Amino acid sequence: TDTLHIVGGGMAGSEAAWQAANMGVSVVLHEMRPQVKTFAHRTGNMGEMVCSNSFRSDDDEQNAVGLLHWEMRTAEGLIISTAHRHRLPAGGALAVDRDPFSEAVTKALTDHPNIAISHEEVSELPSEGHWIFATGPLTSEKLGAAIQTETGADRLAFFDAIAPIVYAESIDMDVAWRQSRYDKGETEEEQKAYINCPMTKPQYEAFIDALLAADKTEFHEGETATYFDGCLPIEVMAERGRETLRHGPMKPVGLTNPHKPEEKAYAVVQLRRDNALGTLYNIVGFQTKMKYGAQASVFKMIPGLEEASFARLGGIHRNTFLNSPTLLDAQMRLRSKPNIRFAGQVTGVEGYVESAAMGLLAGRMAAAEILGRSLPVVPQDTAHGALVHHITGGAEAKTFQPMNVNFGLFRPLDGLRGGRKGRRERYKGYTDRAKDEWSRWLATQKEPA
Ligand code: FAD
Repeated sequence: TDTLHIVGGGMAGSEAAWQAANMGVSVVLHEMRPQVKTFAHRTGNMGEMVCSNSFRSDDDEQNAVGLLHWEMRTAEGLIISTAHRHRLPAGGALAVDRDPFSEAVTKALTDHPNIAISHEEVSELPSEGHWIFATGPLTSEKLGAAIQTETGADRLAFFDAIAPIVYAESIDMDVAWRQSRYDKGETEEEQKAYINCPMTKPQYEAFIDALLAADKTEFHEGETATYFDGCLPIEVMAERGRETLRHGPMKPVGLTNPHKPEEKAYAVVQLRRDNALGTLYNIVGFQTKMKYGAQASVFKMIPGLEEASFARLGGIHRNTFLNSPTLLDAQMRLRSKPNIRFAGQVTGVEGYVESAAMGLLAGRMAAAEILGRSLPVVPQDTAHGALVHHITGGAEAKTFQPMNVNFGLFRPLDGLRGGRKGRRERYKGYTDRAKDEWSRWLATQKEPA
């Protein structure tokens, strides 16, 4: 009964198993591959990288994902240390030699005296025992159905439709303004919930031309399904007719530009607050399959966003993920079945590194619970803490979409607010604060003497 069962031997499940086993807990890791396949995985290895071989920036002073690397390294993370051992030259990025990497992860887990690997599909959410489900963006169909039965069908998505997310401070408010359509809302805050960017007719026409001409990403084979309901990519809307967007997400009605009250905008791009901190805004209805380079240049054509910095760019992918803000508690447990935790991409983080990080936390939390130890709350001002706080509470539940780690998730530092100029200093401030707090949090978990 004290065994920890972990379902899914990907980035998150492998890390969770490693962390819990190192705390002395015995772990069974259930992985359905190679018997049951996904469209993206090729092997039966643990920790297989399904696409790019990059863990992104390794800069732990100026980059949030680099900070996550640092935190995982100091927590003796299996995924990050193995990635470093199989590093390929790639400038400031941590690129990984994928096959030796996943072979080494598999060997480390197989050789661990506290870990047993069982190759089988788990297709139910058990009511007994300690479980972590880390089944990823390609959670098997049967398990997906079982999760929906438990959570309600509208709480588990099978596709993400991510609109680009912009740092609020990088929006030019001399051009844009705050207003909800028809000033809807009870409070002044609600009446000003959106940021609006106006377009003239020539600006709109040029924008449509750019959308139509932009480089797009194709879906992977086996990936497509009925994603078209309600989340059409903007470029597909533009292909359906040059006026479609102006009658859809870019309609100019119910809005008055206080900078130019006499001029009616031809189209308006709206941005909606994406987190409780108010540091991040998503561009409403702008999910897209445009390539990242094209997105950055096309979106900067929007008046007010010429200098925008993006916390994440848009996308549409096959991606199974929970509405974590409503379903999970701060310890990543399913509220309705607290013997079950979720970890990894299925909790609504995005990326190899973020997924492994959520596995690291879930593994430690579950192990502490089994051992009857108390685990102090993960400090919110660390990269791990900012992410887990976002998915379990800080994000807007109604429009929840997967998130990668970025400095917009961090609470502001006194005296370091605002502006592009102060950015280097601010990021250094965030990373210094995070390292300090993470080290202190780790120190609370040293073996009791
Ligand atoms: P995974 O690594 O996918 O691990 C989940 C594991 O659970 C899998 O091994 C799966 O076989 C297993 N499993 C599923 N259901 C069951 C079940 N019922 N019983 C037992 N086992 C089960 N991220 C990036 O950072 N960079 C990229 O370039 C990138 N490209 C991607 C391309 C595609 C096509 C997809 C689908 C995803 C991509 N991602 C990328 C996201 C990436 O998959 C995740 O970031 C990362 O792998 C998630 O880690 P995870 O542990 O949550 O899930």
